[in-house]
Formats: sequence, structure tokens, C-alpha cells
Amino acid sequence: MYRVLYRKWRPQVFADVIGQPQVTKTLAYQIRENRLAHAYLFTGSRGTGKTTCAKIFAKAVNCLHPVNGDPCNECAICKGIDSGTVLDIVEMDAASNNGVDDIRLLRDEVNFTPSQAAYRVYIIDEVHMLSTPAFNALLKTLEEPPEHVKFILATTEVHKLPATILSRCQRFDFRRIEPSCIADRLVEIAKAENAALDYDAAVLIARIADGGMRDALSLLDRCLSGADNVTVDTVSAAAGLMNREYLYDLMDALAAGDTARCLSILDELHKASCDTERLCVELIDRFRSFLIIKTVAHPENLIVGTAEELERLKASAAAFTEEYVLYALGVLATASEAIRRTQNRRIEAEMALIRLCRPETDVSVTALTARVAELERTLAALRQNGLPAAPAVTPAVPAPQASPVPQEKPAAAASADKDEPLFDDAPPFDDEPPFDDAPPFDDEPPFDGPFDAAPAPVKQPTSFAGFAVEKPASGGFAAQFANAGSDEPDDEPFDFEAFMKEHENKKSEAPAVSPAATQPSAPSFDEPRGAAPADDGESPIDARTWTQIVLGAEKRFAPLIGQLTDSAAYISGNVIHIRMENRMKLFINRDYLSKYVSEAARETLGKQYQIKLD
Ligand SMILES: [Zn+2]
Repeated sequence: MYRVLYRKWRPQVFADVIGQPQVTKTLAYQIRENRLAHAYLFTGSRGTGKTTCAKIFAKAVNCLHPVNGDPCNECAICKGIDSGTVLDIVEMDAASNNGVDDIRLLRDEVNFTPSQAAYRVYIIDEVHMLSTPAFNALLKTLEEPPEHVKFILATTEVHKLPATILSRCQRFDFRRIEPSCIADRLVEIAKAENAALDYDAAVLIARIADGGMRDALSLLDRCLSGADNVTVDTVSAAAGLMNREYLYDLMDALAAGDTARCLSILDELHKASCDTERLCVELIDRFRSFLIIKTVAHPENLIVGTAEELERLKASAAAFTEEYVLYALGVLATASEAIRRTQNRRIEAEMALIRLCRPETDVSVTALTARVAELERTLAALRQNGLPAAPAVTPAVPAPQASPVPQEKPAAAASADKDEPLFDDAPPFDDEPPFDDAPPFDDEPPFDGPFDAAPAPVKQPTSFAGFAVEKPASGGFAAQFANAGSDEPDDEPFDFEAFMKEHENKKSEAPAVSPAATQPSAPSFDEPRGAAPADDGESPIDARTWTQIVLGAEKRFAPLIGQLTDSAAYISGNVIHIRMENRMKLFINRDYLSKYVSEAARETLGKQYQIKLD
């Protein structure tokens, strides 16, 4: 009869239990010296050896010829316990026997003396599953059990146990087993089973098992049932992982900022039934390795893998900056959280990949919006005070990363600034250069270029009107905005001038909030132009208020970050209509969008609105 590996290779003495020396040494010592407690609590994640140690303990305390604290595994009692004929060792699964009646039964039973063994040993697994009355019933027995009774309570979730139970037990914490420990043991076992197991494959199994020997052996079992020669590919297939080559491909695509390639790899994985959540975990693990490679002198101590794999990882990691890796880990952590909660797992994964390819869509444009809004405010303040516009503006604009409040700003605007926390919360520009020198984004010059070129349109010496007509809206966000209904994909690089112009349009849609825009003396500013929804009953939300709502929504739900970039909104009745640039619209989760934008709008506007995405 075939016995599964983890039963067949279950350790029979304390010395064979791997990875828990702190526990096994103490237990063997107590048995040897006969200093037993009456109740033990074994805690630790699954497959770390809790039940195994409980069984060895039960045998050792009853063994007729114990050896140095270990059971002999030869005597009648040891053999009887193994075969289940000695009834004094009671294993109970609290998950299925969690009621107060089960415990009452147990309480009555403990009073009988053991039939064959010296001690009656109760092993209660998953003890945290007991109901509260059951715990209370157990307490009394735990407090003063008869001399011939020992309790071993085992749990994976010790925080769910009442303090009264904890205080009555001697506690042992089982640690996750080191992956290298597991891998070594797997190789030994495979050898004894006459099967070939690559060390790489053993390491991969160990990593998937996440510190649990039982899971590792089960996975090895599954691998062996399909092949005598277990390689990394066998393990990947058995564990439902994608072929690991995909990960390197994906990293190359991310390094190149190649969104299309990333999405096509994801599509292939999807077709191959790869689990999205698992992919996220793999990606996080990969970036974690990168981070270790970049920050630690001897990464081989912390990364489980062969020397060859480590070299490959190092080469792959070289394409990313440390800042990018941290950014990526943040995006993926958020995505894996969202993936667990959503039905649209694939979309979450796609959004994460897009964000990873284009970090500037995540933060920089938000920051840029804030900066442009600040610029508008400065202009407005200058106009309000009747200063000659162009010459006064020019010196204020080129200071790229200085505080958004220029020196020339009049006192009125400066105090308004204090009431306006919005821009203090915006990511400071100083934090962003990492993405500028990251190699992946070298092929995206429009971001660097127009940023430096930003002041150019403002230098137009004559009038603000000239600023607005500076460049025809031939492409970029302005054109997309105008064509918001079309499905045409637009890969136009970021166009700062168009963005400025667009922003100008948004601002002119909303004369109410900006202090200067309310001045009747500025007709050229207040004239609506562009794609403003000027129908009756509809009133636009001005750019700054909208930015505030967007930031509020992003703060409530991080995956929204970047999705509402370049959107605008207007109010019609009790509905806020959002109009947005086509590309992101495809990837947005409308439920989340409505929920969090609605909350943010209520906070900002003080009224409940429905949210619609036009
Ligand atoms: Zn024995």
C-alpha cells in the first residue's frame, strides 16, 4: 500500500524533527529529567511539526525503554500508539468537536486511569476553534488535571485563545522552517525513495511550502506521481505556477516600460489558467529579491536559490533602481490586496502592470496638476492686484521644485494658501527624480522634455489669450478630452502644452472657486472654450475642487491613484459626471470609483452625489 510521503517520513524521534531545535531539545530534556508540565501549548504555522512533536511526546512519556528523552519506537506501547491500539492517546480535532458537550465528555473521561500506558495524553488540534463555553469547560480540567493526564493543545492561531487558557499551559512556539532546511531534507527523502530531485526543484518546493514540511512533502508527492525525475518545470506544473521564464520576460518588459508586452504576457498566463493572485505573489517575491540584491552585501543569505539563479536575478535587478523596486512593491501589495476582494482579478493585475510600466501616470501628473493649479492661482492673484501680467509671471514659473508659492505672491493669496491643504499633501517634486534616471523610462522623453520646457508657452509676452491659442489641439490630452466618446486608442506621449491648454479649459469652465477668476475684469479668462459641458442644468466642477475630490478618493482607496488623472467633472442635478481620457477608462473598476469618489465629494462639497462615468 502506498503511504503518502509525509506519513511515511514523519519523524519518530525528536532529533529527526527539522527546524525546531528550541522546542525538541527542551521537550526531550523535560522527559529525560521527568519534569513534565501537565498542559502544553504548541503554536506555529501549518506543517511546522506541532502534531509530530505531540505524538513523539506521547510515546516518549509512555515508552517502556525511553532513550534520552526519545521513545524507543520498538516496545509494545510505542508500537501500540503508532498502530492506534493503545487507546490512552486521544487525538481530537477541535475544528469538528468544538462544542461544550465534547469537552464535558472529555472532562468525565480524564478521571479514569489509563488502560495500558502510564499517561493518558490528550492532543487537541486547532484548539482555537473551541466555542467559548467549551473553553470554559476545559479550563477547570486544565487547572487541576489528574496526575495521569497530560494535555497538548495545538493551534495555528494563538491570538484567538483566551488568556485564561494561555496562562495554564507551557507554551512552545514552532517556527517556519528555513527553506534551505526543507530543501536538504527533500533531497534526502527523494534519494531514499529512489527518485531524482533537482536541487533547484527542491528549493522551489521549499519556497512554495513557505516553511511547512508537510506541504513540502505533499507537493513532492504530487510531483513524483507524475515523473521520476523532478525538475523545476515539474514543480511549477504540479503547483500551478507559470513557467518561471515568464517572470524574466515580464521583468524585461517592465524594465523597457513596454505596456503592450506586459499585457500580452499576462494574457498568455491567463490563457494557461495561471492564478492571478499567485502571479502577484511571484512578482512581489521577485521584487523582494531585487531589493535584497540592491541593499544587502551578501544576498545569497536571504534569497533561496542556486548560484546560477542568483546571478540571473542580479542581472535582471540591474535594470531597476532601488526607488523603482520600492514603488513596484507598493503597487503590487495594493494589487494583491485588491485581487483578493474583486471579481475582476485580471483587470486588477492589468492595472498593476500598467502602473508599473508608467509610474509617472501614478504620481507625477497628479503633482503636475497641483503645480499647474498653483500657477493659475498665482496668475489670478497677480491679475487681481492689477500687476502687468507677463513680466511678473515669468520669474515665478521657472523655479521647478521650489515651494509652489512664489515670492511675489500678494498677501491675500498667501493667506488663502494656508487654508488650502491640498498642495501640501501633493507628492513633492523632490521625491520624484528616481523615475527620471531609471533606465526603463529613457524611452519616454516627453516626460522629461516638456517638463523643462514648461515655461515656454508662458513666456509669450503679450497676453494670456495668446497662451491659450498657442498651439492647436492636434493631439495629447486636450484632443482626447474633446473626443472623449471615441474609442480610438491614443499612445501620444505626454504633451505638456496641450495639458496646460486643457487645464486652462477646465479652469475656465469653473470660474466660481478661483478667487481671481470671479473678477469681472478678466473676460479673456472667463470665456468658456473647448469641450466644456455648457448645457443648462449642468455646472462644471472647477479643476482645483475636482483635484481635491480625486485626491480624497485616492486617499480612501489607493488603487484609484492615477486612474482619474486628466479627468474632469460636472454636476447635473444630484449626479457628478466624470469625463476622462480614454485609455484609463478601460481599466477602471466602476464600483470602487463610484464609492470612493462619492465619499470624497461629500467631504469636499458637503453633499451626497451619485457618480457617473461618461
Ligand atoms: Zn518504546
